[in-house]
Amino acid sequence: MPFKSESQRRYMYARHPGIAKQWQKHTPKDKKLPEKAAAYHLGYLLGKKSAELKAKPEVNYRAGSEERNCGNCQYFGGEGKDCARVNGPISASKDCDLWKA
Ligand code: SF4
Repeated sequence: MPFKSESQRRYMYARHPGIAKQWQKHTPKDKKLPEKAAAYHLGYLLGKKSAELKAKPEVNYRAGSEERNCGNCQYFGGEGKDCARVNGPISASKDCDLWKA
């Protein structure tokens, strides 16, 4: 999966360098990435509060796979805590029923 934002790239190299190197291979070298992914901004623009987000058990938050994980989900904020749909700290290596490429 290619990187979706510079924020995600920094986070992944800091926390999951092995996965980050794989994603870098799928990211075109001359592609300019946005600082934050669109869905992340959307959550802020909609003013979602923690209480409006889904709880982890509701969405079967679980261990992810190389192909499907929070780090390559469009709702992932890339700062290790934020997801536009699910409350609480989010790990890039996890997954849930709301995952979206
Ligand atoms: S997989 Fe689920 S918890 Fe992870 S970023 Fe996507 S919506 Fe959020």
